[in-house]
Amino acid sequence: MDARHLLIVFTLVTHSLTTSMWWAAGSWMGLSRHAAKHWMLSSLCYGLGLLLTLTVEWQRSAAPWLLAGVLMVLGAASLRRGMQAFLKLRRTDAELTAVALSCIVGCLGVFLPLGWGVPGMTLCCLAMCWLLGRTAQECYRPLRQEFMPGTAIAHTVLMLTGLAVFAGTALTLAWPQGAWPWLLGSPTQLHHMLMLGSLTMSILSSFVLGYVVVMRLVRRLEHLSHHDGLTGLLNRRAIEAHLDREVQRMQRFDEPFSVLLLDIDHFKRINDRLGHAAGDAVLASVAQTLQAQAREVDRVARYGGEEFCVVLPHTLHEGALQAAERLRQAVSEVRIPWGDDTVSVTISTGLVCVDAPAETLSMLLRRADEALYEAKAAGRNQVVSAPPFRQVA
Ligand code: GH3
Ligand code: MG
Ligand code: MG
Repeated sequence: MDARHLLIVFTLVTHSLTTSMWWAAGSWMGLSRHAAKHWMLSSLCYGLGLLLTLTVEWQRSAAPWLLAGVLMVLGAASLRRGMQAFLKLRRTDAELTAVALSCIVGCLGVFLPLGWGVPGMTLCCLAMCWLLGRTAQECYRPLRQEFMPGTAIAHTVLMLTGLAVFAGTALTLAWPQGAWPWLLGSPTQLHHMLMLGSLTMSILSSFVLGYVVVMRLVRRLEHLSHHDGLTGLLNRRAIEAHLDREVQRMQRFDEPFSVLLLDIDHFKRINDRLGHAAGDAVLASVAQTLQAQAREVDRVARYGGEEFCVVLPHTLHEGALQAAERLRQAVSEVRIPWGDDTVSVTISTGLVCVDAPAETLSMLLRRADEALYEAKAAGRNQVVSAPPFRQVA
């Protein structure tokens, strides 16, 4: 088997795999559906284009080469359209259609009847350079923002290397007599080198795209496992993990902090009177108020059904009491429209200040719970501070 046959087999295998991978990702797994559809098309067109250029002898006929050029341009246009869908960038359909149409009409409508393979291929190479360059330029910043800088750099390097490969091909096609450094081998060797470069770029680009799709999925799952679906706040698991870290910091560095356990008063009545949906709206509204009133460094979580937890780092009793009163006041002022009704609620709060290294997570939660219970027993809509840890220990 010679180099050409090897390249053909390799192209066939890799592009069948990547095309099926994007098909499965988009239609079976529902991963980035829209983008996956474009990338599947991109892989299919680009793979077919590569196969055509590898299977057909250049001298015999210009038709397969022109068709291959057009297919590769369609592949690059779909790749860019997929990136725009994935990163929610502004769509540039008019520009993409103009580039694709000019290659289709130019190659198949003008150069093919004239039998001019070289100008057609040069046109396609220039279109590829344009598409790859524009993809690199418009994706760098959004990729950097959402993923790590390395991902954005890898994608840009790939697009620009692809651009260089096609710019080199365009130059060698336009001036075959030029003493280009890449023309040192025989034309066949050159052809194989360019195809290998192009194939490598295509495979690496599929890796990068697969990586960003998986990374986005992992981040979403992480977010789901740490947040409450109704209110968008941290959930109980996440806040307990955070509290655990605060307790350890207290034990190690003697950094006190405070915790508020808040419970909506007579919440069941709202559910009973107006229905569960009204209860949900109240929960969301209270959550929004707590989050808006808390400081940047505070952590607000939905601790249970209608219970919330706020962790105030570096805060002693006095500051925590002020914060708790502010939250209580803010919640009592919220008016939630529900049909012809307007719902308002109050909250009771148990406050603990953690300033003793000996106190564990379960101990502080018990103290907060007891203080909350006292606030309820004392008539609700108030803040009760737990006695210092040493006294109850
Ligand atoms: P108290 O002032 O003593 O706290 O009285 P309460 O009615 O607020 O407390 P209780 O524990 O009796 O009732 C809490 C209710 O919260 C019962 C439960 O059905 C409701 N609940 C829990 N989770 C949700 C939720 O996600 N949505 C809605 N709508 N209701 C919920
Ligand atoms: Mg309650
Ligand atoms: Mg409760």
